[in-house]
Amino acid sequence: ESVIVAIDGPAGTGKSSTSKAVAAQLGLSYLDTGAQYRAITWWMISNGVDVSDPAAIATAAGKPSIVSGTDPAAPTITVDGMDASGPIRTQEVSSKVSAVSAVPEVRTLITELQRSIAATAATGIVVEGRDIGTTVLPDADLKIFLTASPEARAARRSGELKGADVAATREALIKRDAADSSRKTSPLAKADDAVEVDTTELTLQQVIECVVTLVEE
Ligand code: C5P
Repeated sequence: ESVIVAIDGPAGTGKSSTSKAVAAQLGLSYLDTGAQYRAITWWMISNGVDVSDPAAIATAAGKPSIVSGTDPAAPTITVDGMDASGPIRTQEVSSKVSAVSAVPEVRTLITELQRSIAATAATGIVVEGRDIGTTVLPDADLKIFLTASPEARAARRSGELKGADVAATREALIKRDAADSSRKTSPLAKADDAVEVDTTELTLQQVIECVVTLVEE
């Protein structure tokens, strides 16, 4: 039988590192849903779509073809066949992705894509995002909601960005979480039946062990 694990939470809580490691340890596929929203955002920016105009975003939403590779050891993302793994991590994409992902037409398309990927994962899948437990895969076998203090999240993200200003990173993360939490369509939220794990005082290894134990229970 295949096992579905949903891992949600705000930015900088260790979702990606945790999800990849858990999937690798348990022999499951891995899907980074944030990368999909980043990829569609990158396509919109590259193709001159006005990302302050929800109607323009809605009209363009179906145009790019977004394909995710789900090996946790080497996840990939392509847009119209082009490797997008680098360009989706720029500050420009990070600052615009909340506006693009708030558009219902975008969410409908990406959610369908996510469900079909999950349905075809042979042994199962770890899916990380914001609305996986509440909306995309409400019947997941295990739902985790990761949290951490704003300071811990900004420090981790600045470390990943190699020396980026911690205060500026903190402001950008708080702004993005506020936008993601307040949108009307499937906002960032903890499912009622999700297990909340505060990672502020935990090492990555401890978080991984905690989630693996919960899957195996
Ligand atoms: O996980 P990551 O920080 O890369 O996600 C980028 C953005 O994609 C989020 O800030 C949010 O706007 C959007 N997102 C979403 N729903 C998801 C995953 C990500 O709206 N399930």
